Amino acid sequence: MNQPPSKYIITASEAESMARCKGLTVPQLLPSLVKSAQDLARPPISKFPVGAVGLGSDGRIFFGGNVEFPGLPLHHSIHAEQFLITNLAAHGGGPKLLNIAVSAAPCGHCRQFLQELRRVSETQIVITDQHQENPDYKPVSSILPDPFGPFDLLDQETPLILEKHNNQLFFKSNSSIIENGNTPNLSNGHCELIDENEEALKTEALEAARGSHAPYSGCPSGVALMDCEGRVYRGSYMESAAYNPSMMPVQAAVVAYMVAGGGGYERIVAAVLVEKDGAAVRQEDTARLMLKYISPKCDFRVFHCV
Ligand SMILES: [Zn+2]
Repeated sequence: MNQPPSKYIITASEAESMARCKGLTVPQLLPSLVKSAQDLARPPISKFPVGAVGLGSDGRIFFGGNVEFPGLPLHHSIHAEQFLITNLAAHGGGPKLLNIAVSAAPCGHCRQFLQELRRVSETQIVITDQHQENPDYKPVSSILPDPFGPFDLLDQETPLILEKHNNQLFFKSNSSIIENGNTPNLSNGHCELIDENEEALKTEALEAARGSHAPYSGCPSGVALMDCEGRVYRGSYMESAAYNPSMMPVQAAVVAYMVAGGGGYERIVAAVLVEKDGAAVRQEDTARLMLKYISPKCDFRVFHCV
């Protein structure tokens, strides 16, 4: 996969060469990168940058930082560990997170979200702010005793986050939303770019929904964002067995935007959400709200699939 260079991803060969230069293994290198991950955080509310760095099974290193959105309820925040997992999942870093280094002890929300990875109990974690010279790795199982997760609710065949999803979703013959015989005004703003690119954005959002992880509600969804230069970023919904730590598709798409080097959110000018008609878990209103605050002029359209 040809990904452009990103501050949020280190290639396997670069990771090995960085480790070799320092006389370390790649897992031993991770704690030294946590500060760089913290520098990528955007926490204007807490002013507390959290960094997370993870080693995927394909040898690449993925970064995550916490992201907060002034004006919105706190549950729209993206935690560093969630950012890292979203980054890893979106870029096909392999089915396992082998090691993770975090700047501060993960909150309960993140410990729970981590449970959506297959055999995460074996993933090795190190917390770097614990004032030790060489903090040691320990298994994730040691920081979440008596876990509740997918193993309690799903069969072994159901794919988890980081595993391939192919939800069979297709647009309805008329996928536009009709209310009282009219197409309602779904936009927060209007962008001419979307008029030319609506089909492309719809296709990307549908692909994101096909790749989403929604085994608990059966309500997959995906978002595609477009920036003012016409570049597209997509995000897949990722559910947690415990519901609340779930990653909304609009947040996942914002992660994709940041990983690809996106700057101010006001550069996001168009967005398309694809979800099921009449779904029990709908993303439309929360996605519109989030976009309205982070990029008030962003055009926002919703299409339904079956
Ligand atoms: Zn957290």
